[in-house]
Amino acid sequence: MNEEAIKKMLGEVLRCVVDEVSRQCSNICAAQNDGCGCENGPIPVELSARHVHLSEKDAIALFGAPLTHARDLSQPGQFLCNERVRIVGPKGVMDNVAILGPSRGCSQVEISKTDARSLGVDAPVRQSGDTAGSPGIILSSKTQNVGLLEGVIVASRHIHMTPEDAARFGVTDGDMVDVCLDSERPVVLKDTLVRVSPKFKLAMHIDADEGNAAGWNKKVTGTIVARKRK
Ligand SMILES: [Zn+2]
Repeated sequence: MNEEAIKKMLGEVLRCVVDEVSRQCSNICAAQNDGCGCENGPIPVELSARHVHLSEKDAIALFGAPLTHARDLSQPGQFLCNERVRIVGPKGVMDNVAILGPSRGCSQVEISKTDARSLGVDAPVRQSGDTAGSPGIILSSKTQNVGLLEGVIVASRHIHMTPEDAARFGVTDGDMVDVCLDSERPVVLKDTLVRVSPKFKLAMHIDADEGNAAGWNKKVTGTIVARKRK
C-alpha cells in the first residue's frame, strides 16, 4: 500500500472515532432524567479568567487606597475593580491582571495550570479560600510590591446555586456532580462542587484551560449527568 493510501485510511479511521465519541457525549448530554426525578439543566457556564482577590491591607499597600468598583459581576455583590496588578513568578510575569472585589480576609491569586507553568509556580487545584500550603508570589502595582507567602491556586470548578435551584436539581451544598458541557467540543467535567447560598445566582464556573479544552463560548450551558452526595 502506498503512503497516500495509508494516510487516507488513517484519516477515515480517525474520523469514525471522532464521530463516535461526539455521538456518545451528545447522548450523555441528552440524558435529561437519571431516575432521581429532578432536573439536570441547563446551567449557564461562565469562564473565570485569571484574577486576584486582595486583603484590604494588601490593596492599600499596593494602591494607597481601598479598591474601587468598575463593574458588577454575575454573582451578587462581586465586582471587577478599576485597579490592575502585575503577577511576578520565578519564571514569568503576567501584566494587567484583574482584581475582583470586595476585599477579603486574605489575598488570593487564581490562575490556570497553563498560567502556573508560565509563572513557574506549582499551584494546586483548590476551592476558593483554601490556600493553606499553596505557593506564594509577588504582586506589583505601578509603584509598590507586595509579597504573598501563600495564596496561588488553580480554582476548582464549581456551581453557584440558590436553595431553590438545589431542590430543583436534587443536590445539596457540598455535593459533587459530573457536568456535560454542550460546547463545540463537548466534555464531561467530573467532580464539580455544588455551592448553595441564597446570595448566589445559578452559574457554573470553569477556568480558562477547561473552557479552551471544551471550545467554550458565552452561550455554552451544562447538564448534570451524575450526582455524588458529600
Ligand atoms: Zn465561582
